[in-house]
Amino acid sequence: MGFINIADAANRLGVSLPYFRELIDRMDRVPTVLDPTDGTDFWTSTTGMIQERDLKTYENLLRQRRFVRLREVYADVLVEAVVLTIRPGWKSLLERVCERIRWMPAEWSVKLVKAREVNGFMVMRFDYDRDCAGSFNEINRLWEEMRLSSLSVCEECGNNGRFRYSPSRSLTLCDKHARLAEPVLPGDGVMADPASDGGSISELPPD
Ligand SMILES: [Zn+2]
Repeated sequence: MGFINIADAANRLGVSLPYFRELIDRMDRVPTVLDPTDGTDFWTSTTGMIQERDLKTYENLLRQRRFVRLREVYADVLVEAVVLTIRPGWKSLLERVCERIRWMPAEWSVKLVKAREVNGFMVMRFDYDRDCAGSFNEINRLWEEMRLSSLSVCEECGNNGRFRYSPSRSLTLCDKHARLAEPVLPGDGVMADPASDGGSISELPPD
């Protein structure tokens, strides 16, 4: 098996080159990229090469990041066009949400519409029958419970993490992935929940 140029590899995987570079970096695979041109920088070079057999690894990583398997397993509690833009470390939280929905009364007709990250925590949107007694309170409780849970789980890998207070991108990350939120702001490490500690919140409560 030979080597393949990273731009061609991105093409084969159906992602953009910047996205592919990000993915390689996140997975700590930058050292596996060989560049025949001297003195190039990983982030700008277009002559980097990966081993062709690594394509399979990246395909699997992309499947995980797109929650392909989870979408199949929990198709009954997800709307067809469900939007899941969170990173793979929060998969266990998504599974918890889906399991909880399955235990809710069928007449509430609950389905998950969207899960995304805002200010370092997970927010979700549900489709359900608000006229059913108790449904609104239960959904709100689940929403807040998952928001709080996400503030202690690394969004990238699922290990224990904490909120990282960053000017460009506040995220909840473990120590290993803390670099994704660097540089951090003064107050990092003190603020555990931006929603209750004076951070700016753009999406509260569930819509
Ligand atoms: Zn992590």
